[in-house]
Amino acid sequence: MKLSYKTYSLKFKHPFGVSGNTRTETPTVFVRLEENGVYGYGEACLPAYLGESTEATLAFLEKAKSLLEEFDCRQLVDAFLFKVDAIAPGHNAAKAAIDITLNDLCAKLAGKSFCEWKGIEQGTEMPTSFTIGIDSEEKIIQKLKESEGFEVLKIKAGTADDKKLISLIRNITDKPLYVDVNQGWRDKEYVVKMTDWMSTQNVILLEQPMPKEMKEDMRWVTERSAILTVADESVKRLSDLEQLEGAFKGINIKLMKCTGLNEAIKMIDYCKKHNLKILLGCMAESSCGTTAMAQLMAYADYVDLDAPQLYLNDPFKGVQYQNGKISVQKSLGIGAEPNQELSF
Ligand code: MG
Repeated sequence: MKLSYKTYSLKFKHPFGVSGNTRTETPTVFVRLEENGVYGYGEACLPAYLGESTEATLAFLEKAKSLLEEFDCRQLVDAFLFKVDAIAPGHNAAKAAIDITLNDLCAKLAGKSFCEWKGIEQGTEMPTSFTIGIDSEEKIIQKLKESEGFEVLKIKAGTADDKKLISLIRNITDKPLYVDVNQGWRDKEYVVKMTDWMSTQNVILLEQPMPKEMKEDMRWVTERSAILTVADESVKRLSDLEQLEGAFKGINIKLMKCTGLNEAIKMIDYCKKHNLKILLGCMAESSCGTTAMAQLMAYADYVDLDAPQLYLNDPFKGVQYQNGKISVQKSLGIGAEPNQELSF
């Protein structure tokens, strides 16, 4: 098979963030594998906070190139991905791009949808949350207007004004909220007090309230929390799950953290066995990576996959959004195909 890739800048419809830290775009690398005129596509989404640069991603893809070009889809994808993983530690987004494109291509070559080919239940439709980032009061009010079609909102917290922010939103809408603190709180007693208060504000889950190092404090919080606690930064891969026992009640699984669909499926198995709720999330992928993740929706308790809605220049077609729901059609492979303007 033949590997190609292309760097791309996904431009936000509305740049967001507080002054001096405004995000206007997300750098991305799209990957394509070709065999006998059939194409598989994948994506490495690289927002700055992920800490994986475009250059390092391209260098990793170059290192994986010869392995990929020798691969045959009749071989075991899982065993092959172990080899890719062993090239170098880290580079999780690049590994995810390889996993997605390979799964897409192999399913297509077998004449099957990804879920059929994998032998898993087909994801179809779920409500997804709509994300509102930390921003000025005025911009938050504007974003709330844009979120009208969505049934659930995800808000980014972790500043001194969190109660004020939640109250502001509560004055405008009573939609359920997911609150993502991005490790912003450090005092365990404060966190529990906040969960008590948030449970009266229709907040249904609290994501990563404390720094990932504060596992013991998180165990203390989760035992007492009035709402569901969900790990994000604390869990990248399957191997992170065991040492977190009791620290959270749910896990935010993202393809760019966990190296792709194969490992995400293993993490879902782990969560089901250990009674952990599953949130399917994303970094800020286009419809390419998002459609790949949406394939696993049949196993999700919560879905936070609104990123394609945030962009002006999404170069892929795949998932669709209607009435606050994300849906994916059963199709050959993963079902994300580039628009004509994306030439490799
Ligand atoms: Mg998060």
